[in-house]
Amino acid sequence: MFPTVRRSLLLQLDGKLPNLALMRLSAFLKQRGEAIEFRRISSPLMLEHGLFDEGWTSVYASLIFERTRPIAERLRQIYPGAIIGGTGWDRRTRLEQIGVTTQALDYSLYPDYPHSIGFSQRGCRLRCPFCVVPDKEGRVTEERAIEEIWRGDPYPRNVLLLDNDFLGAPQWRERVEELRALCANMTETPAPPAITDLSGGGEMRHHGRRFEAQWRFPHSRVGGPGAEGGRA
Ligand code: SF4
Repeated sequence: MFPTVRRSLLLQLDGKLPNLALMRLSAFLKQRGEAIEFRRISSPLMLEHGLFDEGWTSVYASLIFERTRPIAERLRQIYPGAIIGGTGWDRRTRLEQIGVTTQALDYSLYPDYPHSIGFSQRGCRLRCPFCVVPDKEGRVTEERAIEEIWRGDPYPRNVLLLDNDFLGAPQWRERVEELRALCANMTETPAPPAITDLSGGGEMRHHGRRFEAQWRFPHSRVGGPGAEGGRA
C-alpha cells in the first residue's frame, strides 16, 4: 500500500508583495514532507471547487486587508476547516499557534520575484489611531539582520524592507552598515539609485558608494509638527 501524501493548499487572498507568512508556512510544511499547492486569489469565484480540488489535507489562507474578508468568509463556506490568518482576519493570529517553528522562507511560491524581502524590525514608536501596527506588533523590537534577509548569491542584492519604524530600532545603525556592506560588493552601480522603500515609513537611497536613509512619517511633513527625522 502506497503511503498517503499530505497535500496542503495555500491561498494568498490579497496583497501584491510576496506573503511572508505563507512563505514560512510553506517552508515548514515542506520540511515535514507535505506537498504544497499555492494560489493567489483575487475573487470569490476563484475559490470554487475545481476538478482537482478534493483531498486537501489542510487549507490555509492569509489576508492582510479587512476589505478582503468577504473572500475569506466564502472560503470558510467552501472549506469549513480552513485555517485563516493575517491582519485582515485576526490581528492576534500567529504562525506559532499552529506549530510553525521555522523562520525559513519558501521563495519558490514566487518564482518570478527576484528580490529578498523581510523585516529588520517590528513595531512602531508611535500610536496613530488608524493604524494596526501598534496593536499588532507593539513596541519596537529587532527582527532580522540584513544578511539574514538577503537570500545570497546568485540573487540580486536587492533587499525590500517592510519595516514600519526602521529608525526606531536601537540597532538601525548596524542595519545601515550591513546594507552598505551588501552594496559594497556590487559589480555595477545601480542606476537610477536603488531605493529600498520602508513601507509606511521612509526611504533609503544608495548613490554609488554614498548611502542615505531618511525617515519621514507618511502622514506628516518631514521636520514638521509630530514628525521625527534621522539621517545616516
Ligand atoms: S508611524 Fe506608521 S506604523 Fe507607526 S503607528 Fe503611525 S501609521 Fe502606524
